[in-house]
Amino acid sequence: MPSSPPQLSGCPIHRAPVLRDEWVFATRTVFVLLSLLSTAHAQLPREPATVRIGVLSLFHPKTLTLTADHPITLLLDGSPRILDAHHAATIRTIASGLEVDETPAHTLTLSSDTFTLSVPNKLSRLYRGALTVTVRNGVLIPVVAMDTELAVASIVAAESPPGAPLEALKAQAIASRSYLIANSHAHAAFDACDTTHCQFLRSPPAPTSAASIATRATRNVVLTWNGSSSLVAASYSRSCGGQTRALNPTNPTRYPFYAVRCDYCRHHHEPSTGHGLGLCQLGAADLARRGQTFTQILAHYYPNTTLSTLP
Ligand SMILES: [Zn+2]
Ligand SMILES: [Zn+2]
Repeated sequence: MPSSPPQLSGCPIHRAPVLRDEWVFATRTVFVLLSLLSTAHAQLPREPATVRIGVLSLFHPKTLTLTADHPITLLLDGSPRILDAHHAATIRTIASGLEVDETPAHTLTLSSDTFTLSVPNKLSRLYRGALTVTVRNGVLIPVVAMDTELAVASIVAAESPPGAPLEALKAQAIASRSYLIANSHAHAAFDACDTTHCQFLRSPPAPTSAASIATRATRNVVLTWNGSSSLVAASYSRSCGGQTRALNPTNPTRYPFYAVRCDYCRHHHEPSTGHGLGLCQLGAADLARRGQTFTQILAHYYPNTTLSTLP
């Protein structure tokens, strides 16, 4: 937009044409800007090869152990350190940063590998990806950069109700993939966390598991709206109380969630555990048991959306 005021001539005869030219210029500028914006909008992002997941974030850990079933090479501020197979290295916060088996450092990195990270006396999780551990506000911040489709499968396995049929898991995979990619700016230090703040994520499921099969069957497929030009940040919850919730009815930049009827929840009351936006997991599992496909399930819970395959 032009920021300088119109060049007003002192002569009233010249004044009107100058203002009209200015107006035409401003209108053209707005038109060009709008065209550029809509061109940018019409392009969906590429699916990122990896996503950075902030893991074990619920525990705000000050101590972690790291182990693998084969020798691994850590970098402590860039200096290599070899860990023997099955040796559990202790990572701890100290005043100046962190220490690994009593060697101080600011940053621990491990290039792409398979390893186990544990919060002592609480839990252990296996991860596949590249690990970075730093310290912020006296807490260890472990981040795993993992293959995006592996992250989707890990989320589907962690989020889905037990025994959910394959078509419901495919719908979940598409919702989770869409949410993960659309909402990847929720944290400063990584793309998504592993709690309900973003999406639950635990160890990757076995390649033969239903979660992995559903993820592979829908590879790179996401929910879009606005003429397939925008990704849907596809929220979902465990149950909806009988009707899902509407959101953003008039915001033109966000997908407008609709209030849709959910027959399963109308007949099976459980205190709603979520926000009730978008797909209802118990309702989706019921629809799949009644023979509905993942496309029908998604069309039910996310009206006016289409499926798109990301490049
Ligand atoms: Zn989060
Ligand atoms: Zn429901």
